[in-house]
Amino acid sequence: MAAYALTQAGANVVLIEAGPLWYATENSKMLMWPYQSPRRGASTKDHGFGEFDAAIGGFSIEGEPYTRAPGTRFDWFRSRMLGGRTNHWGRISLRFGPYDFRRKSLDGLGDDWPIRYEDVKPYYDKVDRLIGLFGSKENLPNEPDGLFQPPPRPRCYELVVKQAADKLNITCIPSRLSIITKPTNGRPACHYCGQCYRGCLTNSNFSSPSVLIKPALATGKLTILANAMAREVTVDAKGLATGVSYIDKATGEDRRIPARIVVVAASALESARLLLNSKSALFPNGLANSSGVLGKYITDTTGSDLAGFIPRLADGLPHNEDGVGGMHLYMPWWLDNKKLDFPRGYHIEVWGGRGVPSYGFGGGIQSYPGGGGYGKDLKALYRHTYGAMVGFSGRGEMIPNDDSYCEIDPDTVDRWGIPVLRFHWKWSEHEIKQVKHMQDTFEALILQMGGTLLWKKGAPENDYGIAPGGRIIHELGATRMGADPKKSVLNAHCQAWDVKNLFVADGGPFVSQADKNPTWTILALSLRTSEYIADQMKQGAL
Ligand SMILES: Cc1cc2nc3c(=O)[nH]c(=O)nc-3n(C[C@H](O)[C@H](O)[C@H](O)COP(=O)(O)OP(=O)(O)OC[C@H]3O[C@@H](n4cnc5c(N)ncnc54)[C@H](O)[C@@H]3O)c2cc1C
Ligand code: SF4
Repeated sequence: MAAYALTQAGANVVLIEAGPLWYATENSKMLMWPYQSPRRGASTKDHGFGEFDAAIGGFSIEGEPYTRAPGTRFDWFRSRMLGGRTNHWGRISLRFGPYDFRRKSLDGLGDDWPIRYEDVKPYYDKVDRLIGLFGSKENLPNEPDGLFQPPPRPRCYELVVKQAADKLNITCIPSRLSIITKPTNGRPACHYCGQCYRGCLTNSNFSSPSVLIKPALATGKLTILANAMAREVTVDAKGLATGVSYIDKATGEDRRIPARIVVVAASALESARLLLNSKSALFPNGLANSSGVLGKYITDTTGSDLAGFIPRLADGLPHNEDGVGGMHLYMPWWLDNKKLDFPRGYHIEVWGGRGVPSYGFGGGIQSYPGGGGYGKDLKALYRHTYGAMVGFSGRGEMIPNDDSYCEIDPDTVDRWGIPVLRFHWKWSEHEIKQVKHMQDTFEALILQMGGTLLWKKGAPENDYGIAPGGRIIHELGATRMGADPKKSVLNAHCQAWDVKNLFVADGGPFVSQADKNPTWTILALSLRTSEYIADQMKQGAL
């Protein structure tokens, strides 16, 4: 987004990218049938979400380790490709709400942002117009409506979920995904093939190479250095950033690009690593770290799942239920935390249906009532149960805490000799109680639909099934913004307090996690920061 907005404003931009070029229009496996591969779509080491997934990267990358403090666990998903994880994300595109920017004022926990929803709203609007998303106007207090295109109608199993949610008084509304249902800025509308995670050949969903990088390249002002691993932001004697040193991965050579302004957007934690590694006589603790807060207060979304077998969906007539590549309905947070034993909310994502069969079967046929067997009976059972599984994923707000942070590991370097991150991680009681509530809610929904649980619900001994830190891949913080230079890395424009020509444009500046997926806010903040840079340059202040 920064490359897009800055080239539109007339700046010459060099984009340093650790991975190769990747464009869905050229590289996507959108139209491949599972039977065209002997693996039938099963995941591989490099494609953890399935063989056809548009990802280069994963929770482990050869030659690029990260470490964890003894007794703690944090899993870090890293992308190494143009556009990063926007090539294969879920496209759930939610705005943070007015309460999300001022939680400390409301309940005393965490911290307030130095900006309010009203500061970001114009940029959310611009992102909505530029990229496009569908949804429905609901006027909910902390789930701001966007400039939505019409949403697709619920699929059969989603209608069953909606009935159950209505019975239980759980708000259930059309989902909000950055998939266009009307032609937008030269891109055709979605044709409902259901394969978004593979990358869209028609550019009908949002991935940054197709929707932002291509128009940036068309200005003639963008140069992409692919397969270039940034090592350090360099500074001059006055403490201003002078450019970036990087490794040319093809040759292993060290190189350097000079720049008047540096925008770091390598993903929240990788940006923190880059700044922590940018040590000099002027900045012995890492660049922009006079507060000591760099690397601190990292968060991830809380997560837990449960699925059920719903007999009334069994023996369904085979029909095309593809839709968009993602849920058509979801449940935003619907309760008042003041009446509960945990302080922050979660939303519920819904899955199931009769998509193209691939490797594996809904958690394994042996989990279904009467499951297992051989030959004809087994085939009949597959047909009977196919499409009768419905699952729920809770995605909730974690409150930043002192025990969850990253730092440079003094003993470990990657294949290029760059020091790596070491993680410290702790869920608090707030998150564990929230996940218990998720599990109880999922069970109630499954029972309300007349179903049975496909696996055991979370229990106290496994912290109610809370996913390990980092597993929901919404890591945020580490370069947080704030009103006080002693307690934050960046000011309200995502500009480093200590280095006025250094900016951060990823999830690092976030002060709180919210119960929303973060990427729409990352895009809006990046656009806001880029417009600020352009404005400051015009005024000669940068
Ligand atoms: C399977 C999956 C589903 C998701 N679903 C959703 C969703 O539905 N909604 C949502 O809001 N979010 C979702 N997310 C999260 C979302 O993808 C991220 O929030 C978003 O992509 C973050 O953008 P980013 O630019 O900060 O980082 P990234 O997308 O990770 O991009 C970082 C870029 O920096 C490059 N890079 C890293 N280090 C260096 C270096 N040292 N030198 C040079 N380049 C470097 C990488 O190659 C990459 O191109 C999902 C993620 C995954 C993996
Ligand atoms: S579902 Fe729509 S947006 Fe997604 S890959 Fe298919 S055509 Fe593209």
